[in-house]
Amino acid sequence: MTSRIAVLPGDGIGPEIVEQAVRVLRALDLDLELTEAPVGGAAYAAKGHPLPEDTLALARQSDAVLFGAVGDWKYDHLERALRPEQAVLGLRKALGLFANLRPAILYPELANASSLKPEVVAGLDILIVRELTGDIYFGQPRGVRTLEDGPFAGDRQGYDTMHYAETEVRRIAHVAFQAAARRQGRLCSVDKANVLETSQFWRDIMIDVAREYPQVELSHMYVDNAAMQLVRAPKAFDVVVTGNLFGDILSDEAAMLTGSIGMLPSASLNASRQGLYEPSHGSAPDIAGQNIANPLATILSAAMMLRYSLNAAPAADRIEAAVQAVLAQGLRTADIHENGTTRVSTSEMGDAVLKAL
Ligand code: ATP
Ligand code: MG
Repeated sequence: MTSRIAVLPGDGIGPEIVEQAVRVLRALDLDLELTEAPVGGAAYAAKGHPLPEDTLALARQSDAVLFGAVGDWKYDHLERALRPEQAVLGLRKALGLFANLRPAILYPELANASSLKPEVVAGLDILIVRELTGDIYFGQPRGVRTLEDGPFAGDRQGYDTMHYAETEVRRIAHVAFQAAARRQGRLCSVDKANVLETSQFWRDIMIDVAREYPQVELSHMYVDNAAMQLVRAPKAFDVVVTGNLFGDILSDEAAMLTGSIGMLPSASLNASRQGLYEPSHGSAPDIAGQNIANPLATILSAAMMLRYSLNAAPAADRIEAAVQAVLAQGLRTADIHENGTTRVSTSEMGDAVLKAL
C-alpha cells in the first residue's frame, strides 16, 4: 500500500535540509507518495497564513508529515496568530500529536562536541518521550486574579493549573513502554510525586500500565534528580517518559549533552501513529541559503518516520547505518567540523548518505 507523506519545508534552512531527506526517501525501494506544501513564513508570504487550509488538509490525509523548520525575523512584526511558529502548534492540535519522541544520540565520532567528558557521553543513546498536549501548559483555569484573602489579600496573582486525565497518562505510557520494548527494555518515568498530586496520579498509572509490559523494567525518578543524573551519568538511561513541563526542560538538557544540534531528530505522534517528523533545531536564518546547514537531523527524522509511522523499520535502520557510515568516513558539515575531518556542504552530505545507502 502506498504511504502518503506531506513534505513541508518551511523557512530558513528548512528547504535545503528537507531536500536532502527527500532524496534519501526516494532512494529507498518503498512505495511512497510525497507531496509538498508551504508552511510557516513561506506560506504566509504565498497565501497569507502560516498554516493554509490546503496544507492542513494535506497533513490530515497523510500518514506522516516531514517538516523542516519555520520562523524568520522577517515575520516578527506579525500578530501572534499569523507568526510562522503557529503552524507547528496548529498541526499538533489538528492531528492530536500528544507524544513527542526526542532521541539524544552521541555518535562516538562526535564525542568531543559534548560539554561533558567523552567517557561520560560517548555512545550515549537515550530516548525522551514527552507528553505534548496536556499538563500545566494547557490546564484551565489560568490567568491573573485579585486575591480575596490570605497573607497576600488584595494582591494580584498569576496562576496556572496542572492536571492530567487518566486517558492522557495511559496513552503516553503505552507509547513509552512500546518504545522501551523495542530498545533496551528500561523505562524511567520522571515526576515530582513527592510534592504534586498530578505526579502521584501519573506514577500510579505508569505502575498499572507496566503490568502489560513484563519485558520492560520500570523505574521512577523525581525530576530534580533526573536533571542531575542526566549530566552525571546519562548513559544509565534508556527511555525516559515524562509530562509536558518536565519533558520540555529535560529534552533540551539531553539534546545539549550531545552538543550537536544539527544531528538530532524528533517525532510527534498521535494515537493512530500518524506523525510529524522534524529536526530538533530551528530554522537557523543566520545560515539559510548558504548550503552549509547540517541535513542529518532531518534525514534521521525521516528514518524515525519510517520506523514509527510507516512500519518500515528495516529502511529506518538502513538510513541510520548510512549516517553512521558517513561520520565514520570523516565527513562533517560546518557545525560538527573539527581538525582531521573533511568539511562538506549540505548537498554533499546528502550525496554521501545516498552513496552509503
Ligand atoms: P527555534 O526557536 O526555531 O528553535 P532557535 O532560536 O532555537 O530556533 P536554531 O534555529 O535552532 O535556533 O539555531 C540555533 C543555532 O544553531 C544557530 O546559530 C544556527 O545557525 C545553528 N543551527 C541550527 N540548526 C543547524 C543545522 N542544521 N546545521 C548547522 N547549524 C545549525
Ligand atoms: Mg529553540
